[in-house]
Amino acid sequence: LLPNDPNFSNLWGLNNVGQTGGTPDADIDAPEVWDLQTGSNGVLIAVIDTGVDYNHPDLSANMWTNPNEILNNGIDDDGNGFIDDVKGWDFSNNDNDPFDDHGHGTHVSGTIGAIGNNSVGVVGVNWTSRIMALKFLDSAGSGSSDNGIKALQYAADMGAKVSSNSWGSPGQYKALEDAIKYEHDRGMVTVIAAGNENADALDFSPASSDYAITIAASDSNDLKASFSNWGEKIDVAAPGVDILSTRASNNPLCIASITVGTNYCRLSGTSMATPHVAGLAALLLAKNPTLTNEEIRQIIRKGAADLGSAGKDKDFGYGRIGA
Ligand code: CA
Ligand code: CA
Repeated sequence: LLPNDPNFSNLWGLNNVGQTGGTPDADIDAPEVWDLQTGSNGVLIAVIDTGVDYNHPDLSANMWTNPNEILNNGIDDDGNGFIDDVKGWDFSNNDNDPFDDHGHGTHVSGTIGAIGNNSVGVVGVNWTSRIMALKFLDSAGSGSSDNGIKALQYAADMGAKVSSNSWGSPGQYKALEDAIKYEHDRGMVTVIAAGNENADALDFSPASSDYAITIAASDSNDLKASFSNWGEKIDVAAPGVDILSTRASNNPLCIASITVGTNYCRLSGTSMATPHVAGLAALLLAKNPTLTNEEIRQIIRKGAADLGSAGKDKDFGYGRIGA
């Protein structure tokens, strides 16, 4: 099943026909899986990042709003400890507007769930989805682990099934590990970028968590991205080089040279690989809502195309995902 989005042909990670000079079929087999499932607004996906441009024409209809909160009445209607959290929460500025002022979270969101078959721009792994915007990284893309923890907990408490986490730092943080486990204990699929230091992902947090599905980046030739972290902790790899996705209106990240048209741009990183996998987890849950988080981990591993040395290896884990 092929969507009518005009930039679909530029999304090598979804359907690689050699459009960037890469190897045909070094992709996640999106058209093949779309024959079976194109996503559901019943699967809530938290994007824990710099926020989301929730007005983006290729995202707005796929954004979550809190059905039990009344906007701007100054009351915590749903009693979750957050006043007027209709569109998510900004843990960086501690307010109720998680609008993206950097660009990273909007780009991640488009890979998960840019509106499909709307004759506009790009398409996400999910044509239809429900994205919860949780901002804890600031306008420079930086944030504290304490605020990341709060965002992880909010996602779990508000019923998200998947969280996409394209962030981390060197070191180990017990409280952050506990927050990843908190999501896992509530049945969530927590997908985390391995990091971009060409180093062992076990030395980064939260990528090192046992409860994370940890993602390395591959390129359009099915090779390891040069920057991608690696090691025993990698579950799978996913496309993460020169990925076209949605561009926020307020966007210090997407400079002119990588901007496509007005509302799209190209970025590289395990940050871009991670939402391919978070998106696949959401597709699996759309198809079968009873799957557990560990069943999803095993399905994603078993469905991956084995790359590098035979079997699990340090660069690709079980391989590059195949939807
Ligand atoms: Ca509330
Ligand atoms: Ca679109």
